[in-house]
Amino acid sequence: MGNLNIVFIASEAAPLAKTGGLADVTGSLPRALQQLGHRLTIILPFYRRHLFANNIRTTPLNRSIGMWADGAQHHCPLHEAVVDGLRFVLVEQDELYDRDGLYGPPGGAYDDNLLRFLLFDRVALEAAALLDEPVDILHCHDWQTGMIPLLLKTQYQHHARIAGARTVYTIHNLAYQGIFPADWIHRLGLPSHYFHQDGYEFHGQINCMKGGIEAADAITTVSPSYAEEIMTPEYGCHLEGFLRHHAGRLHGIVNGLDVDHWNPATDLIIESPYGPGKVAGKKRCKAALQTQCGLDEQTDAPLLTLISRLAEQKGIDLLIANVATWLERGWQLVVLGSGDMHSEQELHRLAAAHPRQMYFHCGFDEALARRIYAAGDIFLMPSRFEPCGLGQLMAMRYGNVPVVRATGGLRDTVIDYQADKARGTGFHFIEATPAAFDRAVEQAVSIYRRPGAWSRIRSRAMKRDSSWQPSAKAYAKLYESLLYPKGQDG
Ligand code: ADP
Repeated sequence: MGNLNIVFIASEAAPLAKTGGLADVTGSLPRALQQLGHRLTIILPFYRRHLFANNIRTTPLNRSIGMWADGAQHHCPLHEAVVDGLRFVLVEQDELYDRDGLYGPPGGAYDDNLLRFLLFDRVALEAAALLDEPVDILHCHDWQTGMIPLLLKTQYQHHARIAGARTVYTIHNLAYQGIFPADWIHRLGLPSHYFHQDGYEFHGQINCMKGGIEAADAITTVSPSYAEEIMTPEYGCHLEGFLRHHAGRLHGIVNGLDVDHWNPATDLIIESPYGPGKVAGKKRCKAALQTQCGLDEQTDAPLLTLISRLAEQKGIDLLIANVATWLERGWQLVVLGSGDMHSEQELHRLAAAHPRQMYFHCGFDEALARRIYAAGDIFLMPSRFEPCGLGQLMAMRYGNVPVVRATGGLRDTVIDYQADKARGTGFHFIEATPAAFDRAVEQAVSIYRRPGAWSRIRSRAMKRDSSWQPSAKAYAKLYESLLYPKGQDG
């Protein structure tokens, strides 16, 4: 079919503004869809200082959208950026979007987040309605854009260019649902007749993600395993029953990577390029990182690595519980991340006590992340839950063999060596306990000590096809099934 007019509306997209995996997806899936012949536009807030810091060149579109919200008129000029052939439309409202954080100060959230993102949602719908061609698909992501499908159905049907669009809503992380007090319904003019238990009401409050699940034509999440898991009490964050009710519209499509952007053979930031079967460069990357981080330059010490938001979800406590033991065994550890204050303090304390074996950088730093993916032997992802996870995909591509908890997308993308020695690309553990994590890492290190077996695992990991192609095709098929339901072709 091809040539659909697809609009992504999201709260972040790489390389313009990024806090995590959502930005990787909204920055790279559109390119893969474009390569299939579709037309893509991505609408984002104009995060002035982030765009500036990331060297994004923007042009004003000479259109401004005025919008009432919370008792005030907001003027929102539109801008455009074209980055690597992808078109972004950016919604300016400096008071709301020109801040140090995208969602809040470190470890927190801004009080006016519902105003910020509901205003963005409305202006984004108006901006989509101004596009040259009618929109076929509006693809929304996470709680910040969850109310869009409902707004489209209830309040935006007078815009001919978007009225017939089908909506897809992707849950990147069910744990962040966008829950706010009900008095915002009137302050923001939300459709109050949908504020009930089959709509966006949740224990007397507004739940933006629930709105998206209810109103979108299709719901997706970012791996088949997570799609199953979120319909269970263990992972469902109190929406499992609601999701089971809508299971017929729920699809699990695994995330891919922009494999050109994440490629150790062409990455200009790492010390030395390398690829599967040609790993001399990887050794130089390891030595360079050891020097940069003040670690002992031991080529044979296994270098364990972790790059992550420091949040409860990510199982950082399982790491912290093991650090002292692992360092006693002579292993090395490099951690990059920020978030939860207690984890930050513990990691600082451990790194200060063992400066020649452990390094912790507290912050968000993509250049350092690339050097760590390239330098590491073993990549740790002990997540309690993981919708898809991109860290393990990047790590595999850079030959940094992952040890992961067998959950969600980690289970779907990393093949456990213990279960399948001929195909293994990493190591799984099941119980979310320090002991189970330790056993898996110990197994990984014992194979690391057998260079032949290790280089086979590493090479399989590096050769894994993590490209977007198969998943972009699955999304395109889903879009087409919404636009041309079976039996109504032609
Ligand atoms: P999540 O979206 O839950 O944070 P993912 O594994 O899906 O987790 O994606 C995380 C993305 O953010 C990856 O691209 C990872 O490299 C990047 N990342 C996480 N923490 C940092 C950090 N401190 N500095 C640089 N990049 C980071």
